[in-house]
Amino acid sequence: MAKDREPAGGGAADDSPFLSVRDLRVRFRTEDGVVQAVNGLSFDVLRGRTLGIVGESGSGKSVANQAIMGLHNPANTTISGEIHLDGEELTGAGERRLQRLRGNKVAMVFQDPLTALSPYHTVGFQIAEPFRKHRGASKREARERAIDMLDKVGIPNPKLRVDDYPHQFSGGMRQRAVIAMALVCDPDLLIADEPTTALDVTVQAQILDLLQELQREFGSAIILITHDLGVVSQVSDDVLVMYGGQAVERGSVREVLQRPQHPYTWGLLTSMPRLAGDVEKELVPINGSPPSLLNPPPGCPFEPRCGYPPEVADSLSCVDDRPALPEGRGAACHLTPEQKRTFFVERVLPRLG
Ligand code: SF4
Repeated sequence: MAKDREPAGGGAADDSPFLSVRDLRVRFRTEDGVVQAVNGLSFDVLRGRTLGIVGESGSGKSVANQAIMGLHNPANTTISGEIHLDGEELTGAGERRLQRLRGNKVAMVFQDPLTALSPYHTVGFQIAEPFRKHRGASKREARERAIDMLDKVGIPNPKLRVDDYPHQFSGGMRQRAVIAMALVCDPDLLIADEPTTALDVTVQAQILDLLQELQREFGSAIILITHDLGVVSQVSDDVLVMYGGQAVERGSVREVLQRPQHPYTWGLLTSMPRLAGDVEKELVPINGSPPSLLNPPPGCPFEPRCGYPPEVADSLSCVDDRPALPEGRGAACHLTPEQKRTFFVERVLPRLG
């Protein structure tokens, strides 16, 4: 199921990260206290590559990416750390600078196309407008570009459908239109937040294929945010697993899916429905619930749900000592490399069938 892909373009990859995030922290002030939604997150995204960020809702994956886009309300949000986009530091950037970047250098596709599209304007107008705004195109040029983009994302009869309103499109077509809107200015980075969750399985596969095709054509970097490891396995090159506002495992898609190292990733895999192998194997859910981000535990955030802490060497406490995620391939877990290998082979693999 996992696949390692060559960088887009086939040849040697430019291995300087297009997006580099370091020690990102996002805090929300609420009536109940301060929510520590993202806690020291670091990751890179290379040009022409797709990074899948996977985790349950509340893990911080969407909040972190909204911080990259500058979408949080500064009145109740504090953001610290470093966000370098194509070498430009974004943390603390003003709204005008962020507006110039949004839709131009970086664009976002949301889960629900109905909230991304205005019911009062035609689909074509909504695709053309960012092109006019960011590229200074005339009305006629922008309309031609909208037709071209509708064609690229697979909408039949684009010259006619460009004048339709969103309610005249099916759910799958609306999501295609939203992708066309995001890509109209040829952004270098596309952030797709659960782009297929609201769609049926066939349309979901078509949209994922489309994202890959467009990435090949436009050479964009993509961040794909999802709760579904199956989606990650289909389109991602690299994976970041998030839990409780932190990254707990990272690696290439092949490494993380074939030799996962973190007990939470093991739980995600054993609870995921299988389409191949022993499909009769019983799914094993992860018991318990994610930690409160109002008062996160001082040690490992997964400790209350993890079945492995007693196996950890005495000198390290999962309850008190927060494990760090190493640079490159690795997991934020106190288990030794030998314990990770043994537990995965003896306890997790048999459950996967
Ligand atoms: Fe489990 Fe301890 Fe590893 Fe956390 S650090 S995942 S509690 S073994």
